[in-house]
Amino acid sequence: MNIKLNNGVLMPQFGLGTFLVPDGQSAYETVKYALSIGYRHIDTAQVYRNEQSVGDALRDSGIPREEVFITSKQIDHYSEKPMQRLFDESLAKLQTDYIDLYLIHWPNPKKEINQQTWAFFESLYEQKKVRAIGVSNFQRHHLQDLLETAKIKPMINQVELHPGLNQAPLKAYLDKEDIAIESYGPFMKGGVFEGIYLDGLKPIAEKYQASIPQIIIAWGLARGVIMIPKSVTPSRIEENFKAQLIKLTADEVEQINQLNRGKRVYTDPDNSPWGPYKE
Ligand code: NDP
Repeated sequence: MNIKLNNGVLMPQFGLGTFLVPDGQSAYETVKYALSIGYRHIDTAQVYRNEQSVGDALRDSGIPREEVFITSKQIDHYSEKPMQRLFDESLAKLQTDYIDLYLIHWPNPKKEINQQTWAFFESLYEQKKVRAIGVSNFQRHHLQDLLETAKIKPMINQVELHPGLNQAPLKAYLDKEDIAIESYGPFMKGGVFEGIYLDGLKPIAEKYQASIPQIIIAWGLARGVIMIPKSVTPSRIEENFKAQLIKLTADEVEQINQLNRGKRVYTDPDNSPWGPYKE
């Protein structure tokens, strides 16, 4: 299923994450396998250092470029490295002349830096080097600062989102602004297999004869969230893909919403090590 972004671009609502998938054989085999069973959306990033293998797998898959949605992200926008060079390096590694979605990976605490970076992203968009642009790890206040000077509204915000941190307030704001929300870390670094999360999710998984990861993916999709679970294990890559067939009831979605504890298991965007540098 596709999500229509605020510029009309269609993006597969389900895809493959590749954080911590090592460049070389692992990333190559993982992405090639995922594409062979039907994945058409791959999420990578400059900092994952696996764009080369993602590009190799895409090239060798035999699938036309325009049928696969590729996301990459720029993390060094606060450094002295020219942003254009970083973008060109991603293009070269991915072996493509455009990226479907390009994200600012982490906000800088200085709003002017994010605003300058965004102006560069807008120029890539205007040159049709990217089909959509967005941000990642932006809190509401980061977005509000960005929108002060933006000519083009971001199409996506990719954030930590899972049963323990369902991001309902941020999602309500993004829905109002017509900015799509994308989840990372859907399995809470394994936390969904324990405690209240396990207790809450297990009965629903049993009803559908599904796994807990499948129920979380189905929950995200039912809420209109873009889901990109990562796995390097073929059976899990397939299991996660099949979760798209599970349709939860509104009550079940709400039961999972109730597991929210505001629990972050990844870096807090207001206290991240990424980017406090460039003047
Ligand atoms: P996930 O929540 O997707 O979890 C990945 C882990 O869960 C891996 O250890 C994987 O194991 C395991 N797993 C996957 N599927 C199953 C399954 N069906 N059953 C049991 N275990 C399973 O975490 P990620 O942090 O990778 O997040 C997803 C994607 O989001 C990333 O890959 C990346 O693309 C993006 N991301 C973005 C960030 C950002 O700052 N914008 C930050 C973090 C992630 P195995 O691989 O061994 O099978």
